[in-house]
Amino acid sequence: MKIILLGPPGAGKGTEAKVLAEKYGVEHISTGDIFRESIKEESPLGLEIKKYVESGELIPDKIVVEVVTGKIRDIDLNEGFILDGFPRTINQAQMLDFTLEKLRIRIDKVIYFDTSLDVVLQRLTNRRICRQCGTIYHLVNMPPAQQGKCDRCGGDLFQREDDMKGTILNRLKVYKEQTAGLINYYQEKKMLEKVNGDISKDELFEVISSIVDNLE
Ligand code: AMP
Repeated sequence: MKIILLGPPGAGKGTEAKVLAEKYGVEHISTGDIFRESIKEESPLGLEIKKYVESGELIPDKIVVEVVTGKIRDIDLNEGFILDGFPRTINQAQMLDFTLEKLRIRIDKVIYFDTSLDVVLQRLTNRRICRQCGTIYHLVNMPPAQQGKCDRCGGDLFQREDDMKGTILNRLKVYKEQTAGLINYYQEKKMLEKVNGDISKDELFEVISSIVDNLE
C-alpha cells in the first residue's frame, strides 16, 4: 500500500494515517511531524524552518525536498507507506514523481479528504496532542479521560502553536492558494479518490480501509 493523503489542515489526515499505518504495518511519513521534531530539537534545520511553521506558511520547496529525499533513502519504500502532508505544491509533486519513477515505485492512490470549512475550524481549535506519544485528541469529540493527560501513556497534552486562531486562517489561505491545485493534478492522472472528510474518524477509517483493501 502506497498512498498519499491530501486535504486541508484539520481534515484528519494525521489521525487516519496513524491508525492506518498501525493496521497495515506501513511507514507513516508526516512532513509536519518531521519538521516539528527538528524545531523541538533546535537542530540547524529546526531553527531555519521555525518561522514558517509557526506562521502557517509553507517551508520552501528546496528544504522540503531535501528532507523528504533523505527520509525516502532511509526506509524500504517497497514495504509500503502513507505520505501525510506531502506533497503540498505542484513542484513537490513533480519532484516526488521524478524520485519514485527512478526507484520504479508507483503510488496506488491519492486519497483526498473533502472537508468543509466549519468542520476544519472546529477540529483545529479543539485539537490537543500528547507531547510524549503523539496521540491526537479533540476536546469535544474525543476528549481524554483526565483533562490535559494522554489516555495511552499519561503524557501531557498541548495545543500546537499553529492551531491558534490567527494562524489557522493563514494555513487555510495557504492551502487554497498553494496546495488545492493538487486535486486537479492527481485527478488528471486518474489517481484521485475523494472521501467525505466531515464524517467521524472511525467512519473515515472504515471508508479508507475498504479503499486500501481493494487496491490491486
Ligand atoms: P502539518 O502538520 O502537515 O499541518 O504541517 C505543519 C506545518 O509544517 C505546515 O503549516 C508547514 O509550515 C510545514 N510543512 C509540512 N509539510 C510541508 C510541506 N510538504 N511543504 C511545505 N511546508 C510543510
